[in-house]
Amino acid sequence: MFEPISHSWELHCHSLFSDGSLSAQALYDLALERDVRHLVLTDHDTAEGYRWLTEQGQLQPECQLWPGVELSSQWQGRSVHVVGVGMDVTSPHWRQIEARYAVARDKRLERILFLLAREGLNIDVDALRTQAGAGTLGRPHIARYLVDSGQVKDSATAFKRWLGNGKVGDVKQSWPELAEAVADIAGSGGVAVLAHPHRYKLTWRKLDQLLTDFTDAGGRAVEVCCPAMPDAMRKRLAAYCAQEGVMVSGGSDFHQPDTPWASLGRYPQWPTQAPLLTDWLLSQAV
Ligand code: AMP
Ligand code: MN
Ligand code: MN
Ligand code: MN
Repeated sequence: MFEPISHSWELHCHSLFSDGSLSAQALYDLALERDVRHLVLTDHDTAEGYRWLTEQGQLQPECQLWPGVELSSQWQGRSVHVVGVGMDVTSPHWRQIEARYAVARDKRLERILFLLAREGLNIDVDALRTQAGAGTLGRPHIARYLVDSGQVKDSATAFKRWLGNGKVGDVKQSWPELAEAVADIAGSGGVAVLAHPHRYKLTWRKLDQLLTDFTDAGGRAVEVCCPAMPDAMRKRLAAYCAQEGVMVSGGSDFHQPDTPWASLGRYPQWPTQAPLLTDWLLSQAV
């Protein structure tokens, strides 16, 4: 595996506004401490963290905060994530988009809880909502609830048995199609980035199909530099981006400080041939 290095850009990370463990302020402070000079906060289906941090007025010139999101979608019966960077996240149009994803998330939660109850698991939805607070409520919250209530020994087991890919709690029917998520981002002035392609367990042929469908829908960048991506895939994706003129992105997908494999600002080196999303974003900023 290619050694992660420290970067001045972090383009994929989470706060308490979704399933991260740090408040948006603590995450921003950590970025400052790590010499991250450009931070894109990409909470699941919400840009509330960006709006909140901006309103606090505590941002420093050393670290620029960019509006971002990680939208949930489905593609060929799988759940696929699309990162968005640079949308106008204060517009009523964008807020309507967030509201749509919140409805989808609520519907999905209801279905997940129904299916888990059938398996004999007991989950109090009000306790779950309290736990998630102002953040979008996702499967990691359910995992933690199951651990705290003594029904599962740890979070990894909860995903392995109930919540992970292909398990009973992996419900994705409520999510918009991939092309719709891309259009939501592009239609709000953002760049759509295919998130962590190595996580979908696709054959090379399926991966090519996903890349084609994604770029046909208006997707303009792909995460190529992810900490846990196998070298073979990273090279293949970098070659694809160079050939097709698709931009390369990357990021740690940081959720919490105690996971050394997803450390804020650390991920593999940028490839030398393909266009970089970071260069493009800087060229747009006036
Ligand atoms: P959701 O937004 O509810 O679909 O939850 C997806 C999130 O669950 C991901 O962003 C990860 O943070 C987490 N996750 C997904 N798969 C696993 C896994 N196998 N183990 C631990 N966390 C996971
Ligand atoms: Mn997550
Ligand atoms: Mn993701
Ligand atoms: Mn993520």
